[in-house]
Amino acid sequence: MALRLYNTMTRKKEIFQPLQAGKVRMYTCGPTVYNFAHIGNFRAYLFEDILRRYLKFKGYQVTQVMNITDVDDKIIRDANKTGKSIREFTKPYQNAFFEDLDTLGIERAEVYPAATDHVPEMVRLIKSIMDKGIAYRTDDGSIYFRVSDYPAYGKLAHLNIAEMQQGTRVQNDEYEKEEIRDFALWKAWKEEDGPVFWETEIGKGRPGWHIECSAMSSKYLGNHFDIHTGGVDNIFPHHENEIAQSEAASGKKFVNYWIHCEHLMVEGDKMSKSAGNFYRLRELLEKGIDATAIRYVLLSTHYRQKLNFTFDKVEAAAKSITRLRDFKKSLAVRSDQESQDIGKIIDKYLNDFEATLDDDLNISGALGSVFSCIHEINTYRETHSLTKEDVRRILVYLNRIDSVLNVLEEPENQLTNKEQTLIDARQQARADRNWAEADRIRDELLHRGIILEDTPQGTTWKRKIQTK
Ligand code: AMP
Ligand code: ZN
Repeated sequence: MALRLYNTMTRKKEIFQPLQAGKVRMYTCGPTVYNFAHIGNFRAYLFEDILRRYLKFKGYQVTQVMNITDVDDKIIRDANKTGKSIREFTKPYQNAFFEDLDTLGIERAEVYPAATDHVPEMVRLIKSIMDKGIAYRTDDGSIYFRVSDYPAYGKLAHLNIAEMQQGTRVQNDEYEKEEIRDFALWKAWKEEDGPVFWETEIGKGRPGWHIECSAMSSKYLGNHFDIHTGGVDNIFPHHENEIAQSEAASGKKFVNYWIHCEHLMVEGDKMSKSAGNFYRLRELLEKGIDATAIRYVLLSTHYRQKLNFTFDKVEAAAKSITRLRDFKKSLAVRSDQESQDIGKIIDKYLNDFEATLDDDLNISGALGSVFSCIHEINTYRETHSLTKEDVRRILVYLNRIDSVLNVLEEPENQLTNKEQTLIDARQQARADRNWAEADRIRDELLHRGIILEDTPQGTTWKRKIQTK
């Protein structure tokens, strides 16, 4: 079965064909580490996680590079305010970013290059663009990309170049650039930058934002690679500028598939730091909300649809995860007979899972097929007993789908001393036929997030997935 992905460049779903058989090279625009990321950012990183995991599911070997932007206007402004170096200032946010990735079960990329470790590579790239005559220097020493010398500009965002005020001279612009649409490759040092600058062959200053992605992608993935991802807000100007820089320098096609994820919204508006309508992961966790429920909410809407974040969705996600985990736990061998029927069910649903995800990562279809599979197996179990081979096959299926979803594994699951004492006390109350006390303790445990179930084999417990 062939994977088809929607390519922003062509505005079409296209069959995915890597440049090198069996291998995928993918670049992802990463965080600007001047603050803690919000869950809108993590929607983008989670979409990339699903894409990456699904490519691996299909048997590809994936090399993913995600940059860390650790120098830009906001970082310089905030670091200088606190009197710290940009490295000292950004380090805690960078560490927090990696912790949050782990908390959300996002698989690590192969390389996380930081912009400040790649200034020489950026300087080399800027020089080669200057050598081709597509960049110019302004009086203050900054260097700009001259868009009018690069006719393909606008091909990703499908811009009407005429509308971009081509030829408009910018008279009083602080950067003295020739045209509004020209963008900075290098920003000359100004007083407010304080101690943040690099002394280089092209002058004293720092890189513009876009150049880091062109320089670092080619260093780790080559001049031409398979997939470039980001949020839709990256399409213009960031990705358009990346294409201009990279293709102007190399003379080659830069990327084959551009894949962009829609925004996470809050009551109709994009979740963003500047709008102030954001939730940070750690704030939600402090409220007691389960990280896997957040993962599930963020991944379960198709990446090209806007997703409105609500606590009802978190609640529904927790229920879905509980259903999956309970199903897995309920699998018990009840027969030593031979059976072929489960194999047919599993094959059908594994096929569905792949066919739906092959269609531009249709996650709702894939999740739908998983729950239909569980339903069908549960119905089958009403009249048949599962054999050892049945259980093995179902577990293989669950592991396979979970290599993409990553929601089945329960967190470290041990009772605290207090919880164990309460369970023991309830057992004693039941033995004493003190039902009122047994019920009181059951409620107290529920309040602590422990659900008890009394079965003929004894009392079992599970931890509730917290949603508030
Ligand atoms: P930034 O740190 O602002 O550069 O953003 C990092 C990544 O998060 C980029 O890929 C953005 O497109 C993405 N992003 C920012 N806000 C949202 C949002 N509300 N929903 C989805 N992705 C977002
Ligand atoms: Zn980028």
